[in-house]
This record gives sequence, structure tokens and C-alpha cells, in this order.
Amino acid sequence: MPENEWVRIIPLGGLGEIGMNMFVIETADDMIVIDAGLMFPEEEMLGIDLVIPDFSYLLQHRDKVRGLILTHGHEDHTGSLPFLLKELPIPVYGTPLSLGLAAEKIREQDVRADLRAIAPRERFSLGGLRVECMRVCHSIPDGVGVALETPAGLVVHAGDFKFDPTPVDGKLTDYHKFAELGDRGVLVLLSDSTNAMRPGFTPSERTVGQALEEVFRTVRRRIIVACFASHIHRIQQILEVAARMGRKVAIHGKSMIANTRIAADLGHLRIPPDVLVRLDDLRHLSPAETVIIATGSQGEPLSAIARMSAGEHKQIEITPGDTVIFSARVIPGNEQAIARTINQLFRRGAEVITEEFAPVHVSGHPCQEELKLMLNLTRPKFFVPIHGEYRHRHHHARLATAVGIDPAHICLAENGDILEFTPEKRDIVGKVTGGRVFVDGKGVGDVGDAILRERQHLARDGMVMVVVGLHHQTRAIVVGPEIVSRGFVHLQDQEAFFNAANHLVKELLAGCPEEERGDASILKEKIKVALRKFVHKAFDRRPMILPIVIDVWGAEP
Ligand SMILES: [Zn+2]
Ligand SMILES: [Zn+2]
Repeated sequence: MPENEWVRIIPLGGLGEIGMNMFVIETADDMIVIDAGLMFPEEEMLGIDLVIPDFSYLLQHRDKVRGLILTHGHEDHTGSLPFLLKELPIPVYGTPLSLGLAAEKIREQDVRADLRAIAPRERFSLGGLRVECMRVCHSIPDGVGVALETPAGLVVHAGDFKFDPTPVDGKLTDYHKFAELGDRGVLVLLSDSTNAMRPGFTPSERTVGQALEEVFRTVRRRIIVACFASHIHRIQQILEVAARMGRKVAIHGKSMIANTRIAADLGHLRIPPDVLVRLDDLRHLSPAETVIIATGSQGEPLSAIARMSAGEHKQIEITPGDTVIFSARVIPGNEQAIARTINQLFRRGAEVITEEFAPVHVSGHPCQEELKLMLNLTRPKFFVPIHGEYRHRHHHARLATAVGIDPAHICLAENGDILEFTPEKRDIVGKVTGGRVFVDGKGVGDVGDAILRERQHLARDGMVMVVVGLHHQTRAIVVGPEIVSRGFVHLQDQEAFFNAANHLVKELLAGCPEEERGDASILKEKIKVALRKFVHKAFDRRPMILPIVIDVWGAEP
């Protein structure tokens, strides 16, 4: 084997979760990054705003990194871009809409970016690698897969895709290109596992238009549709149905307005004439003539729909007879927030239509038959299921076996694994520092697992603080003990507890040998242990205990 005939694929994110997708493709001379996504925090990540991949591997090899390719404009593929570009200013390649949406986020973070537009089927070079992107259908327009010619062979990343045979914009997933790549010989395929557990084909996005039309036909009053701000084809269909039914549409929400503007400017959204109105103008129209498109399909507390449901929206009051359509999937983790919003909407007399009652949503990801089709078109030698938790990737691996891929050639890797491929074999040759980095306010990575554990402890059990001041010479108590608690005992019980704790600390200090009274750290530990025991015995609770011992200077009072 010639020395350089290898390629390494290193997932920095996207294999332990649906989110923070990021891959590094490495050859002897070059590194290329595909996507830089984020994920939203899980419930136990208290106070965390965002989670991004650890990209220290890229920073360690900064001279080798030639650029980053975006497959599409979703946040799980673009959201950590501003954080990466701050540390590593590399050129970013993507289709115009992907770049347009990413640019908006990058601007918000005050980062400069070198954005380079590409078109599907247009070949370009990154370092020594030839790159070609191919169009794919997804729940956002202008998505692509990526093919890279490496010294070891062709690497194909299918992007987030589905095989919609009747896409809203008429732009099909590029079956021909994927088949052509298959003919040339694909060494490795990376493919989307999100729906690997769902049989059949994902229905066409157009079916949602039909379902919406049926709902619109029966409703006599105002219609409010909640969907993702990036789902331009969904917005397109709502606008078209509304126009056909003679309704006016107000687009509501900052991201919704920004995205529709960007998409319309780039020709991805065709707004029917005379259909759009401003939210304020709805007052002059009868409810039967109006539609509002808004954010909040996930029950996000600050979203337009959540505020309407809570009766806290300045301009829109939900009234009996209104119909609210949730035209989106429930993202795991958001069930309770969505249920709360729906309960409140029903309470206000609205009718609520979700995916369970009418086909007002379809997925943007491929189901099992489409996954098999992708495998059959590209016929890869090696296969890496991506974009999913282990269970999704496990099922995807089974589908690959079913279409004849050698099980020994399927890699169920983890984030951080270094997968090495040569024309003949594959191996995991090491691991890079990887994992999840928490973003909390202005801090990136300063909050780690230890702080999260503290936050969980505080959230679960509250805290008790003891402040005691000892005279610097005599070591007699001159301040306190003051006891303060938060999230621990009810006000009514507080006084009895404070008195008991106060007494306990005094006794403890009185019983301390001379040499220990001079050492604040010994005293703190003793107070902590004694108080923890007392609280546990009296309340069967384990709050965080924070003793503070201070030296008081000056004459003893
Ligand atoms: Zn996506
Ligand atoms: Zn995705």
C-alpha cells in the first residue's frame, strides 16, 4: 500500500445524540470539517444555554485545517460555527441559504467569517482534496450531501436527507449523482440514522399542504400555525393554502421574520401577492380572514405561541373558536412544555390540531426503505451510520446488513474515535479529546461536570450556610453563628432549625482543642460533618452545607 493511501474520519459530535453534528475528514496533508452543530441542553444540565462539541483536536492541528463545509442551515449543523470561528478562522463553504442562515447567527456573536458559496455538482478543491456536493431534500431548502475524493477512495456524507419524490420546490435529491458515485466506487458512506427505526418511506412534504388545506377548509375563525422558522417549504405551503382560501397571513417571531426574508431574497420562498400583512393589521380583518405563522412548536416559554397560551401576548388574545395547528415534530425532552401550552390553549377555548390528529407534519429524515435506497445507490465498501443515538445507529447498521454490506465493514463508532480507512480495511486507531462543551452565558467550557453536579445538588436539596467569626487571638466567638438556608426548610420551621443548628455549632466550637480552634479549615470541616449528621437525622435531607469561618481583628468586645 502506498504510504498515503488512508483517510481518517473523526466524529467530534453527532454520534451520541441527535445534535452537535461535526465530522473531521483527515488525510496525510489536509483536514476538512463537515458541519459544526450544537445541541440544546438536556434537563439535568441546569443553567446551561447550549452544548457544543469539543474542537480541541482541530485547534491542535490548525495548520492542517483547510475549511468547513455546511451540509445545510439547521442549528444542529451550524450552531457552534461562531464558537469555532472565534478560535479558528477557516473558510466556510455552503449553499447560499445555508450560508445566509449561518451568517445571521455569526453576526449575532460578533464574529467575522469567510463565507464561500457553492452550488450542487460544482467541483472545488480544499487542500489536496476534490469536493463535490449533491442536492438533497430535507426540512430546510438548499441542503446537500458531500463527496470527497481522498487518497484512499471516495468518502460520501449523505447529509440530512429524504427521498421526497414530489418536493415543494421541485428540486429532487440527486439520485443520479449518488448512483454515479456508487458506480465510481464509494469507500465510505456516512448516512443519517434519525428515522432508522421507522419502516417504509417518509411521506412527501407536499402531503402536509393537502392536510393543511383540509383543516383550513373546515375552520371558520382565526388559524395559528406553529412551525420551525427554518422550515421554509412548510411556510411556503401555509402561504399558498392561505392565499387560495382568501386569508391574509402575518408572520410572527424574530427568527421567523429573519428566515423568511433571507429565503425570499435567495429565491427559496415565493410569497404569493397580497397575502402578507403585518401583525398589527390583523385587527382590521375578521378572524375568518386571517392566519398567523409563529414560532413555539416546542412549547418554548418565550415563544409567541406560549405567550398567547398564557394570555401574556400583547397583540394576540386567543378566543374560543381559534384553531392552533402544531405543524412540527415533538423533539424528545420538550413533551411537557408542549403539553402545558396545549392545555392552556384548550382552556382558552381554542381547537388544537397536532400530528396525532391530522397529517400536518412529516419528517425531513429518511425512513428505512429510503435508507436502503441510499445504501443501494452508493454501494459503499464501508458504512458509518451517523446522526443518531446508539439505538438509531444500531438499527441503521441492521438495514445495511440486510442490503448486503459486510457486517465487519460497518462502524458503530463513538464521538472522538479516530476511524481509519484504507482501500482494504478499516480500524479504530485512537481517540481524540472530545466530548461536550457547555456554554453558559459568556462562558464557554468553564462549566464542567463538577459544577453541574453542584448545581444538581443545590437544586435537589438546597443549601445551609453557617457563618461564624472568631477573634484572631483569643479564638472566642465574636460573630454568629449565623445560619442561612435556601431551598431547604420552610419558613415556619426555620427558627427552630436555626436555633438548634446555632446551638450545635457553639457546642462544637466550645469542645474544640486549642490547636484546632486556630485552624479555620479544620473548623469548617468539623462544622460541615456535624451539621450534615444533624440535618440528616432530623430531616432525612442532604442539603449542601457551606461553613464560613472568619478571623475578626481588633479588641474583643
Ligand atoms: Zn437537518
Ligand atoms: Zn440534523
